[in-house]
Amino acid sequence: MNLRPRGFLECEGAPGAPFSLLGLPFDGTCSFRPGARFGPAAIREASWVLETYSPALDAELDGSLVADLGDLDLPPLDPWGLIEQAAERLLAGGHRILALGGEHSITPPLVRAHARRHPGLVLVHFDAHADLREEYLGDPRSHACAVRRCLDSVPAERLVQLGIRSGTREEFRWMRDHRTLWPATPEGVRQALGRTDGPIYLTVDLDVFDPSVVPGTGTPEPGGLTYRELEACLREIGLAGRPVVGADVVELSPGWDPTGASAVVAAKVAREILVLMGAIRQPRSSVGSRAPQAPGSRVRA
Ligand code: MN
Ligand code: MN
Repeated sequence: MNLRPRGFLECEGAPGAPFSLLGLPFDGTCSFRPGARFGPAAIREASWVLETYSPALDAELDGSLVADLGDLDLPPLDPWGLIEQAAERLLAGGHRILALGGEHSITPPLVRAHARRHPGLVLVHFDAHADLREEYLGDPRSHACAVRRCLDSVPAERLVQLGIRSGTREEFRWMRDHRTLWPATPEGVRQALGRTDGPIYLTVDLDVFDPSVVPGTGTPEPGGLTYRELEACLREIGLAGRPVVGADVVELSPGWDPTGASAVVAAKVAREILVLMGAIRQPRSSVGSRAPQAPGSRVRA
């Protein structure tokens, strides 16, 4: 009789494993429709439909390298200190973290912890929304301010924003003035990363997808990416050969998509990110490999 806990896609590494998957079920500042707190559980369940092999990145997730730590218990009013402490502890142990949201306000404490540990950190931000407000409805920690709150630890010249199609006139002016907004295409990714060096923290707000691809999110915004378009961008990040030292996938709100397809998209994005981070079975042979290999990830994209 084989019994096993059902974590994310065969991620059965012990807690000391090099990669940590951490659920952050928080949606306390959601501005429109709540439910992102149910994201981590839905992503885990949806992941069971996926294979460990990624054809797009030509690499196979090695679940023994990833410990699914479960969800962090978060107080409803002030979860940010706990999130930062948890990230600190994992990073001090040399782990690479993929966090599953939860809404986007979980990202700033994660980025702060990573920026302390990784000087020169570059923040790559996929989203429909600029998330650059100083405050929203009087709350500076709202998910509408997520990227603004990261700017204390990652300056604008190391911020890359992709897929943004909603924001205030001031937010769009800021992105123009600081040249942070790039086309969500392989060419856009190549150009944007070419302007920076340093390790990458990747944050994917799932509303970057078109609502026809991911309706299960709190603030859907028409005119978004297809799955293949995001996949092409992730592949380009792999080809850039830069370490992806931390990441999060946020804003899945599974209750708004009774088909469950949004959760499958989220799970597949999470799998690709784990592969980009380097949680892969080492290839038997690199014959035929065309691309330079990332020091941290060895993705043979
Ligand atoms: Mn966002
Ligand atoms: Mn968004």
